[in-house]
Amino acid sequence: MQLEPDFWRHKNLLDMNDAEWEALCDGCGKCCYRKYIDGEGKYERLYYTRIACNLLDLETGKCGNYLKRFELEEDCTKLTKDNLPEFSWLPATCAYRLLYEGKPLPSWHPLISGDPESVRKADILIRHGIHERDVIDWFDFILDEDNEV
Ligand code: SF4
Repeated sequence: MQLEPDFWRHKNLLDMNDAEWEALCDGCGKCCYRKYIDGEGKYERLYYTRIACNLLDLETGKCGNYLKRFELEEDCTKLTKDNLPEFSWLPATCAYRLLYEGKPLPSWHPLISGDPESVRKADILIRHGIHERDVIDWFDFILDEDNEV
């Protein structure tokens, strides 16, 4: 399947073909870090952490076993058009969330830069990540406001 030129600028997320949908992912790996929800109702707050899924390569932000990820990590979530309305948990830099909120893609997105390395060069990956299996207390790894993803 082909990518239409500049498809992300004029196509609705729901109208994108599979190749276009996949191409939106910049590969940052931030969605593979654990989140923590505290409080309820209007007091509910989502916290991001530096705690990564055990399959994630912390250096590259890539899944260590992409083909078997749903077998190996039962809470791994596939981003599809069906769960679009739940995308608010995605990091603020994520292309799916940006487009869903009517915002433009950043200049470092590979679709715009033409360089798959531009994500790393722009320092978008989470630094000092730690695998879930190595964590005892989650509260030690919550990202503060300045480090929000
Ligand atoms: S946060 Fe978004 S852009 Fe980054 S890896 Fe996850 S789906 Fe792809």
